Amino acid sequence: MDRVSYSYDAPVSQTLFDRAASVTPGGVNSPVRAFRAVGGTPRFMVSGTGPYLTDADGRQYVDLVCSWGPVILGHAHPAVVEAVREAVGHGTSFGTPGVGEVELAEEIVARVPPVEQVRLVSSGTEATMSAIRLARGFTGRAKIVKFAGCYHGHVDALLASAGSGVATFGLPDTPGVTGAQAGDTLVLPYNDLDSVRAAFAAHPGEIACVITEASPGNMGVVPPEEGFNAGLKELCAEHGALFVSDEVMTGFRVGRQGWFGIDGVVPDLMTFGKVMGGGFPAAAFGGRADVMAHLAPAGPVYQAGTLSGNPVATAAGLAQLRHLDDAAYAAVDTAADRVRSLVTEALAKEGVAHRVQSAGNMFSVFFTDREVTDYDAARSQEAFRFTAFFHAMLEGGVYLPPSAFESWFVSAAHDDRAVERIAEALPAASRAAAEATEG
Ligand code: PLP
Repeated sequence: MDRVSYSYDAPVSQTLFDRAASVTPGGVNSPVRAFRAVGGTPRFMVSGTGPYLTDADGRQYVDLVCSWGPVILGHAHPAVVEAVREAVGHGTSFGTPGVGEVELAEEIVARVPPVEQVRLVSSGTEATMSAIRLARGFTGRAKIVKFAGCYHGHVDALLASAGSGVATFGLPDTPGVTGAQAGDTLVLPYNDLDSVRAAFAAHPGEIACVITEASPGNMGVVPPEEGFNAGLKELCAEHGALFVSDEVMTGFRVGRQGWFGIDGVVPDLMTFGKVMGGGFPAAAFGGRADVMAHLAPAGPVYQAGTLSGNPVATAAGLAQLRHLDDAAYAAVDTAADRVRSLVTEALAKEGVAHRVQSAGNMFSVFFTDREVTDYDAARSQEAFRFTAFFHAMLEGGVYLPPSAFESWFVSAAHDDRAVERIAEALPAASRAAAEATEG
């Protein structure tokens, strides 16, 4: 895509981006941050408070990314900041068992009944990678099933037809993943139980697990159709495979019990990250005790981490989870409802074909008039309209995910003033989307 130069480009961010690009590939530490899908200069943020981010040029934005999910109470929430301050004063890492990791594990087990045992790790990628290894070790089988458009982190075996940054770049695959690493991965269309049935029939006794985003947010928000997750669980049980539900994005965000609390389908293994770390690197995988018992040192499947269960990260995560009561979730849900209605109203007013799709308080806007039920449909949207919309919103002081294939996130701190500011930016952005042309 051509690089677009916008008149409101931020000079300090631009200077930082130039410096970054000389020492870091593409100037960023995670691809989607580079604005490549939308063009222009990525904003370098220097602080966050409540629903707002402030960039290095001193401009403030209403944040609809919320660190891609973790910041559910708003930036610099006093309870989280205080817990971190307290923890850090006692030391930053011990390399021994600690109290915080027991408490965080207990909190997760108490909230999510299918999780009888849980292992803490440092990123969602580690969680899904470890869950897959455990599923293979437990079943003694090699093959895994994933769905096109579902992103589970940058695990070699799971980078086939992934969403998120991979969707943004339209890469079918990534160099560096060998045939051997991806060769045991079967990629199937999302929301298509027949294809899963066919895969089990074609590979009897070979499939270790089916992994799916509990409700996908990495091709934009594409919720499972009624009965899809239940059908996956049933097929897995019938064929001796494990059902792995990836709740890194949905977990503790769409409700106290994540997506499990919405559809009630009991997975064999689950993965978590984002919200449970309170903005720090903490993630987890857990599930059936008999399966988890195969993990070292209780069992033979090796898995480890120098910073796993880090005391500062667990303190942040615990503080956040303990503040996430019914009132906090109600505030997040209300903010999501309000933003969704405003976007629909503004785009409809300008006659822009669009669909706002939701999974609880996660949502995204597709520039199409068709329902989006899988990755192919997501990719058929008029993404060029999003580019225009994104930049007009940015100019209006609203920070959206810099890609048409991502969920938008709000927090409990998105109050009346923040929502008003979004409302103020929407008319110009909707006009820009209406007037956008391809190419
Ligand atoms: N799984 C899902 C559903 C995700 O959305 C992500 C990240 O966005 C991951 C796994 C990977 O998590 P991390 O970026 O912490 O490695």
